[in-house]
Amino acid sequence: MTAFRRTTCPHCRGKLETGQRIHQACIDPWLEAQQAKKERADAKAARMAAKVERASIKARKEAIKTIAQRIAAAQIAFNAFIRERDKDKGCFVCGRPFAPVPGQVQHAGHVRSRGAAGHLRFNEDNCHGECEGCNGPHGAKPHQIKAGAIARIGLEGFDALENDNTPHKWTHDELRGIQATYRAKLKELRQ
Ligand SMILES: [Zn+2]
Ligand SMILES: [Zn+2]
Repeated sequence: MTAFRRTTCPHCRGKLETGQRIHQACIDPWLEAQQAKKERADAKAARMAAKVERASIKARKEAIKTIAQRIAAAQIAFNAFIRERDKDKGCFVCGRPFAPVPGQVQHAGHVRSRGAAGHLRFNEDNCHGECEGCNGPHGAKPHQIKAGAIARIGLEGFDALENDNTPHKWTHDELRGIQATYRAKLKELRQ
């Protein structure tokens, strides 16, 4: 067995005399370098800890989201899909094109409103690209909306919406699923 014997200086890598472990002149700069190395490692560990903490806060926020917040998040994803699907079709009520008409903002308008028929808020037949004017509070009249909807989904489709009056209680899992589904469908449309 040969005992380990240092032959090069840990600081300058130069040759050492027998029994010497570091050059005398290299001690201070070596200690400084060690200290700087430790500080970099500590700073990195602190950054990692902060990152873990942020992720944990995000997870907790996600976990305590209310059903209302989840519905809102799923609706954003669903409406974005509808706008993309219908972007070239024009307003389903008045027929005006969305682009390149300046200031013509495209909405995702519900045939039966989310307030009156919340169970149909994520029904693709119940939602179509609509201009801001028609979708506004003084916008389209019910008979105009009906005509526009029939033009898109047919009388049968319209009747199916009208006859669907089963209230629905959304669950967290369901809403998470809807959000994920429509994000994926939007991505697919854009490809
Ligand atoms: Zn040295
Ligand atoms: Zn319109």
